[in-house]
Amino acid sequence: VFKALEFADKNSDTYYKEDTVIHNPQIIRDVIKISGCRFRIIARPDEDIDKEQNKDAVPAPPAPPEALRPRPPVVCVMGHVDHGKTTLLDALRDTSVVDTEFGGITQHIGAFEVTLPSGERATFLDTPGHAAFGAMRSRGARCTDVVVLVVAADDGVMAQTLESVRMARAADVPILVAINKIDKPGVNIDKTLRSLAQHGLLCEALGGDVQAIAVSALKRLHLDTLVEALILQAQLMDLKADPGGYVEGVVIEAFVDPRTGKQATILVQRGTLRKGCVIVAGNGWAKVRVLQNSAGLSVESASPATPVLVMGWRELPSAGDTVLEVESEKRANEVMRWRHNQRMKEKQESDLEAINIKESEHQAIYKQKLAQKRSLGRFRTRQEGPRQKMIQEDDHPTLSVIVKGDVDGSVEAILDILETYDDHERVRLELVSYGVGQVTPNDVEVAQAFNAIIYAFNVECPPGVARDARAAGVQLAQHNVIYKLVDAVRDQLSARLPRRR
Ligand code: GDP
Repeated sequence: VFKALEFADKNSDTYYKEDTVIHNPQIIRDVIKISGCRFRIIARPDEDIDKEQNKDAVPAPPAPPEALRPRPPVVCVMGHVDHGKTTLLDALRDTSVVDTEFGGITQHIGAFEVTLPSGERATFLDTPGHAAFGAMRSRGARCTDVVVLVVAADDGVMAQTLESVRMARAADVPILVAINKIDKPGVNIDKTLRSLAQHGLLCEALGGDVQAIAVSALKRLHLDTLVEALILQAQLMDLKADPGGYVEGVVIEAFVDPRTGKQATILVQRGTLRKGCVIVAGNGWAKVRVLQNSAGLSVESASPATPVLVMGWRELPSAGDTVLEVESEKRANEVMRWRHNQRMKEKQESDLEAINIKESEHQAIYKQKLAQKRSLGRFRTRQEGPRQKMIQEDDHPTLSVIVKGDVDGSVEAILDILETYDDHERVRLELVSYGVGQVTPNDVEVAQAFNAIIYAFNVECPPGVARDARAAGVQLAQHNVIYKLVDAVRDQLSARLPRRR
């Protein structure tokens, strides 16, 4: 497969546009002969890969019911900014350290366990908010069982409170409400409960089925009650896993420690992880050398729903990767080789696709421009098709957006929220494109063609690109807080609502 780098000679019969993909080498030879134009090889089907049989590691079939044992819930804390998510997580994490006999030093490994005096446990994901929830979901690794929705009693239900509810509902994860800051004088818990009810979250005190616990994260009041409620919720959900067999899990965090080297926190979801186990995860693999819990203590093993810091990585995986145990180092190497080959193959395919998409993008831009010109009456045609389409679109106002963000997790979180606005009856929200990274000239070009607004979250827009956007009349909105970005989108949607007569 070849990509034309230059236009062919205009005098020849054959004319290739720049970036045209050509699959037939004979044509290329002819074109070179006639015009002397240049080509670059961009991909070659690798027959070796095709012939190789699948050597990947795969999850074991579901465990038989008799092998399943109850497991603790895995909890993600969400809520509006400043309502006390971080304080609550800190308080819970400290409780867990005080409880350990040898009192290790708390370390942030992405998740921690809280054990009640009764011995029952709950596991908390350590990063509060949308990004953690979104990042985990974007890779299809659904590992949150319950969302704790923190609502400050003195502030009540706010924009991000509702966003969190939407995200949890979209992921079908039950919510438990923690009404926080009840130590503040004059706070009204009932008012907060009623306000939640108005937004469709009916707590038990008002006859619904959502548990709500009044706490003070700062004064550490009723935290045990909160954890008990979570464990009750886990029992209602009948959360179970097989502690035997090969280990399966998900990577919560991966990083290089300057002193101890490559480390990754794993949430075990099936089986029991022990020293000496060989595991693969994404592009990484390890022979487990050291296991540490969130209190910094060395442990021998980790059972389902337990987060554990793993050392012994030859190659580091990425957050969200699925962890699978394999029988030997030899097998791990085989899996790594297979995955490497698959990646190369996918890259070749996506390179080709990118070029083809670029083609179709150009076509779309061209069509759009033509349609715009037609609608201005300058290019009236006899064909009624495209014009009718324009009229329909006029009837149904649309906000077109392009979303750029710093990491997969934030982009995914924004799209999750925007999705909930998409079913609006009177104004449509159209996602033209999205991606990770700074705003590019291509984004501006596409935005101009589709009359779209570019929303950038936590990413820069190079001055040159910003200038081009201004010159092209493209709106560019930069935000560092997700809910502000979403608010801005909502304002634009409202502005497009048809006026009532
Ligand atoms: P986050 O943005 O949701 O993570 O909120 P933080 O945990 O950073 O808390 C925001 C502010 O609220 C901080 O000044 C906390 O000290 C304060 N705060 C958190 N929990 C409580 C509480 O239970 N009572 C009181 N009075 N203040 C709290």
